[in-house]
Amino acid sequence: MLNLVIFGPPGCGKGTQSTRIAEKYGLMHISSGDLLRNEIERGTDLGNQVKQYVERGLLVPDGIILKKIYKNAIRFIHSAGIIFDGFPRTLIQAVMLDTFLQKKELKLNLVIHMLVDRNELFKRLTGRAEDSGRKDDTDQIFGVRMRVYEKQTHCLKEYYSGQNKILQVNGMAPVEEVSAKIVRAIDHYREKNEVFSNVI
Ligand code: AMP
Repeated sequence: MLNLVIFGPPGCGKGTQSTRIAEKYGLMHISSGDLLRNEIERGTDLGNQVKQYVERGLLVPDGIILKKIYKNAIRFIHSAGIIFDGFPRTLIQAVMLDTFLQKKELKLNLVIHMLVDRNELFKRLTGRAEDSGRKDDTDQIFGVRMRVYEKQTHCLKEYYSGQNKILQVNGMAPVEEVSAKIVRAIDHYREKNEVFSNVI
């Protein structure tokens, strides 16, 4: 199996890149944000429970998200692999993901960290708001999501660097260029079992 995580600040392109990578390597794509938005749209109990957090740009409590992710991941443990998009987002989630995979005698192979500067993120999100209709793609909520990212998610970089799994990707280039770089790095990893240490 090829199991990947992709993370980065809001608007970094993780959804777009995950879809492309999943297609290229035949991976199952688990997007925590999409799973939550789907629950909210359907008005389920879970949707009602998480709505306030998502719309305000705050993280849904770890217990809720972990349960939802496990339920989905378990269906895919005999697939070619999984790309986790937007999960983990806290240190606890990262540790719990490792534990979950270890119990299934699986492991995380690579963690893609998308780097995009703040002005570009802001431009992308406010541009996206018109199409996405997402309530959290507003100026004000963007600020909240950036702070949440810096406080609760950015620390994953250290956690996965310690495991020698982090692949840092400059996400400022056009989508196709970014995908091509990621593909090169994944292929290199698969051939040599080695992760590029520089930002690509
Ligand atoms: P995203 O589509 O990845 O930008 O996620 C949208 C929103 O869903 C986030 O701002 C959070 O409110 C919630 N969310 C998504 N993934 C997680 C997670 N792993 N932990 C907690 N909340 C999450």
